[in-house]
Amino acid sequence: KEEGRNTYRLYRADMHARDHRDLALETALRNTAETGEGLAVHYQPLIDRDSGEVRGAEALLRWTSPELGVVSPGDFIPLAERSGLILPLGRRLMTLVAGQLRAWRKAGLAPPPVAINLSARQFWQQDLVDEVRRLYADFDLPPGQIGFELTESTLIDRHQRAAATLEALRELGCYIAIDDFGTGYSSLSYLQELPVTTIKIDRSFIRGLGQSRGSVAILAAVTGLARELGLRVVAEGVETEVQLEALKAYHVSLIQGFLTGRPVAADTFRECYLVRPPR
Ligand code: C2E
Ligand code: CA
Ligand code: CA
Ligand code: CA
Repeated sequence: KEEGRNTYRLYRADMHARDHRDLALETALRNTAETGEGLAVHYQPLIDRDSGEVRGAEALLRWTSPELGVVSPGDFIPLAERSGLILPLGRRLMTLVAGQLRAWRKAGLAPPPVAINLSARQFWQQDLVDEVRRLYADFDLPPGQIGFELTESTLIDRHQRAAATLEALRELGCYIAIDDFGTGYSSLSYLQELPVTTIKIDRSFIRGLGQSRGSVAILAAVTGLARELGLRVVAEGVETEVQLEALKAYHVSLIQGFLTGRPVAADTFRECYLVRPPR
């Protein structure tokens, strides 16, 4: 009985520590959302395996809190979504990306389309389309310079309304990718009903390539479906040559992963992917 009580106390203390940590994190995140301090964007290249060229990049938010140090997206993005802070943070990210793209273009470089992740809350906010339109105008971006990644769960519930928003974004030239494809829902009919351009095969399926038969079966099904529907396929989380070979067999040529390039700071991205040595 004595022991039981101790265990209980420990458990309580642990819960307390976690609540406390969550609260500290949220307070710090709230400050950052207000000031923008400590936010940065990393860019991960999307590589065409056949030509080696950069076909796009994904913008990934990075946060170094003045109080807490580096916090991983896996920790702060879910919190930002729960608390609603993803709205101001997302707005800051979009401005950072657009500013970066304008700077690169002014320097005579030709940055590829950059994909921005949108969580459900951001996608369903009233003025998203206006905001994106303004972004294109304010930063003199050519059509197609910015695209978006959304997950299946964001789109599936109210796909009628989702279609209207996606249509408007497509008119601005934005491409639309389904992120983490295959992890969300079993229904595929929405793919036919929404103006989606790209599907990104989730890392969990890529990981199994060369190891499990199931992963190959899923790859075959997904690439077959994409071909029928005229969708572009991106493989994400590619880490090994074995995986790359397996993808080749299914004609997946757009690769995003540590094998072809990790997410890097803007300056490194510029050096590695935008400035080409003269031939
Ligand atoms: P995601 O959208 O699926 O982004 C891809 C994640 O996979 C990134 O993690 C990236 O660093 C990681 N990754 C890329 N290639 C590889 C690989 O070969 N192997 C492995 N193991 N990982 C790889 P990151 O940057 O930690 O982001 C995690 C998640 O946080 C993202 O997953 C996305 O859902 C979310 N996130 C990041 N930035 C933003 C943002 O600006 N807005 C929103 N709403 N969500 C964001
Ligand atoms: Ca993504
Ligand atoms: Ca993903
Ligand atoms: Ca993900």
